[in-house]
Amino acid sequence: MMPGPGGGAGPLVMLQALLGPEVVAAVRSDEVERYLVDHRRLYHGRALAIARPRSTEQVSKLLAFCNAQRIGVVPQGGNTSYCGGATPDASGTQLLLSLERMDRIRQLDADDCAMVAEAGCVLAKLQDAAREADRLLPLSLGSEGSCQLGGNLSTNAGGTNVLRYGMARDLVLGLEVVLADGRVLDTLSTLRKDNTGYDVKSLFLGAEGTLGVITAAALRLFPREASLATAFVAVPDIDAAVALLARLRASSGDRLSSFELIPRAALDLLSAHLPDARDPLAAPSPWYVLCEAASARADEDLTAMLAQALEEALAAGQVTDAAVARGARDRESLWSLRERIPEAQRREGLSLKHDVSLPVSHVARFVAEAEAWLRQAAPEGRLVAYGHLGDGNLHFNVSARSATEAEALAARTDAIRRHVHDLVRAHGGSFSAEHGIGALKVDELVRYAPPVELELMRAIKRTFDPQGIMNPGKVLRR
Ligand SMILES: Cc1cc2nc3c(=O)[nH]c(=O)nc-3n(C[C@H](O)[C@H](O)[C@H](O)COP(=O)(O)OP(=O)(O)OC[C@H]3O[C@@H](n4cnc5c(N)ncnc54)[C@H](O)[C@@H]3O)c2cc1C
Repeated sequence: MMPGPGGGAGPLVMLQALLGPEVVAAVRSDEVERYLVDHRRLYHGRALAIARPRSTEQVSKLLAFCNAQRIGVVPQGGNTSYCGGATPDASGTQLLLSLERMDRIRQLDADDCAMVAEAGCVLAKLQDAAREADRLLPLSLGSEGSCQLGGNLSTNAGGTNVLRYGMARDLVLGLEVVLADGRVLDTLSTLRKDNTGYDVKSLFLGAEGTLGVITAAALRLFPREASLATAFVAVPDIDAAVALLARLRASSGDRLSSFELIPRAALDLLSAHLPDARDPLAAPSPWYVLCEAASARADEDLTAMLAQALEEALAAGQVTDAAVARGARDRESLWSLRERIPEAQRREGLSLKHDVSLPVSHVARFVAEAEAWLRQAAPEGRLVAYGHLGDGNLHFNVSARSATEAEALAARTDAIRRHVHDLVRAHGGSFSAEHGIGALKVDELVRYAPPVELELMRAIKRTFDPQGIMNPGKVLRR
C-alpha cells in the first residue's frame, strides 16, 4: 500500500480536473480483464483510475500530480508481460497509466537508418513502417501484434533475432522519458556516436517502469532483408544442436539471425491442442532446431547455402532430417510452429515457467541435469524446454503430465523454481533472461543479484523516484 491519501474519489476528481475525463477515467467493468489482469492470469489488480494520455505533456502533468500526492503509477503497454510487471496491486490506490494512445511515428529517416516513435506504438506497426521504407527493425517476438515499444524497451525484450541484432537495448539511440516528478528527459537523438558523460538513458531500458515513463524512443534500423532461408531441422540431442549452431554461423558468414530449439514434447502439445500445426518431418525426433539466415542482398542464394550446410551436418551426424522452406508460405508455417508453443502450453493447463539463460556451451549439460532431477523430484511434471538457443536462452517450462496431476505439480512450484535457478547459477547463467523481474521474481533478484549491484539498484531507485511512486513493488521491494 502506498503512503499518502490512497484511494477514494478525491484524487480521481482532482486528476480529472487536471486533464479531463477523456484522459483519466474510472476503470469500466468491461475493461478490467484488459488492463487489470496480466497475460498469464497470475495477477488480478485494482486501480484508482486509468489514464490514457495523448502527449508527453499530459504524462508529465500526471506524474507531477501523482508524485506530489504520493499516488503509485503503473505504466502499461500491450499488457503481455509474463511477470505481472504491468498489473497494479490489489489496493485500488494505484493509477494505471496506459500509453496506448501515444502511438505516432514521429520521424523515419531511411538515410539515417533511424526512426523516432512513441511508446504506445505496437511493435508490428513499427516493423511494417521500417519495411515500407526499405529498412529493417529487427526486434521480433511472438507477441509483436500486441506488445508496444514502451513495454519492449522497459523489459529489454529479446525475441528471435537477438543472435544477430542484440536485445531491445541494443537498438536504442535515444529516449524521451518522463521522470517521477514530471520533468522530461529528452535524449531523442539519432546519433550513432555521442559520448557525453554517463549513459543515463540506458538505466530506463529494462527498468520495467520503476524509474520513469518512456514516452518515445529513437531506434536503429538496418538494411531490409532481401533474401531469407529457413529450415526446420531434426537433431539427435542438444550437443548436436550446439555444434550445428557453430557450423551454420561459419558457413553463412555469420548471416544466421535465428536459432530456436524445440523439443518433441512441444510438437506433441501443438498437435494435441492446435491440430492444424503440422510436423513437417516424417519421423519423430527428440529435438528440433528452427533456424534462419538473412541477407540484405537479393542475389544471394541463402537457401542453397543452408541446404548444403545441412547436408554436411547430416553426414557429420549432427542432423537426422531437415525441411528447408521453399517460399514464404513454407516459412510462415515453420515459424507458426515455434510461435504457437506458448498458446499450446496455455491450453494444456498448468505450466511452471522459468526464463533462464546460460552460456550456450552449458545448455546440454544443464538440461540433462535438471531433467534427471525433475524425474525424481517431480514425477508429475513433463519438461517442455524450448527457446532461443542461439542466445543460450531457454524457456524451461514444466507441464503437468495429466490434468489430474496438476495439483501435485503446483504444490512443487517453489521447490522446482529453487532447484532450477540454483542449477542455472551453478552453470554461470541467469534466472531472468528476457522477460524481466516484474512482481514475480522480486525475491529471486534479492537471492541471486550480487549484493553490491542490489545496493546500487536501490540507490538509483531512490535517486530517480524518491517518493517511490513508479510501479511500486516491481523489480525491487522498498
Ligand atoms: C506469446 C508471447 C510471446 C512472447 N515472446 C517473447 C520473446 O520472445 N521475448 C521477450 O523478451 N518477451 C516475450 N514475451 C513477453 C512480452 O511480450 C514482452 O516482455 C514485451 O516486451 C512486453 O511488452 P508490453 O507492451 O506488452 O509491455 P507490458 O506487459 O504492458 O509491460 C511490461 C513492463 O514494462 C512496463 N512498461 C510498459 N510500458 C512502459 C513505458 N512506456 N514506460 C515505462 N515502463 C513501461 C510495465 O510497467 C511493465 O513493468 C512474449 C509474450 C507473449 C504473450
